[in-house]
Amino acid sequence: MTQRGLLIVLSGPSGVGKGTVRKAIFEDDSVDFRYSISATTRKPREGEVDGKDYFFVSKEEFEEKIQAGGMLEYAQYVDNYYGTPKAFIDDTLASGRDVFLEIDVQGALQVKSKMPEGVYIFLTPPDIKNLRARLEGRGTDSPEVIEKRVAAARDELKKMINYDYAVENDVVEAAVARIMAIIKAERLRVSRVLAEIAD
Ligand code: 5GP
Repeated sequence: MTQRGLLIVLSGPSGVGKGTVRKAIFEDDSVDFRYSISATTRKPREGEVDGKDYFFVSKEEFEEKIQAGGMLEYAQYVDNYYGTPKAFIDDTLASGRDVFLEIDVQGALQVKSKMPEGVYIFLTPPDIKNLRARLEGRGTDSPEVIEKRVAAARDELKKMINYDYAVENDVVEAAVARIMAIIKAERLRVSRVLAEIAD
C-alpha cells in the first residue's frame, strides 16, 4: 500500500503575506508537494490566471459544489466565498504525494477538525501596524475593506493556539526556510517512517 501524503496547511491573518510566502515556496523547482488551487467567487485581480491562482467561479456554481459535498472546507470572507475542492486533496494524498494548502483561519480550523493528522502552520505578522501598512501598500482594497480585514486579523491572531507551528513573516526568504524545515522534520516523524517501513 502507498503511504499517504502529508497534508500541509499554511494559514494566518489576512494581509500577513501568506500568498507571497506560498508563491516563494513554489518558485523553487525542487519543491515536491502539490498546491491545492482554491475556488473563489471573487473577481480575478490583474495578472491572476483561472486554474492557476484560483478557480474563479460564480456564486451559484460555488453553492452547488457545497451542496454536492465537493468542498473540503469553505469560508465567506469579505463578501466572497473561498473553498478547497475536496477531490484533489483526497486523490493526491492517496497517491502518496504531499499537498500544500494556503487558506484563511476559518478554513484551516474546518480542515483540522476533519484531518487532524495534517501539519498546521500559522504565519504571524511582525506586528499589527505592519499588517495595515501592507494592506494599504498593496493598494487593491478600499479603506472599508482594509478596516474589515484588520478587524478580522485581530480575531484570527487569537486562534493561533490551534496550530502546530507559528512562523513569523519578517523576511519572506526566512519564513520560507522555516516552513521548509518544518516540512522536512514532519516527514521524519517516527509514525510516518514506521508506516513506510511496514509497507
Ligand atoms: P485573496 O482575496 O487576498 O486572494 O484571499 C483572501 C483570503 O482568503 C486569504 O486569507 C487567503 O489565504 C484565503 N483563502 C484563499 N483560498 C482559500 C480557501 O480555499 N479557503 C479558505 N478558507 N480561505 C482561502
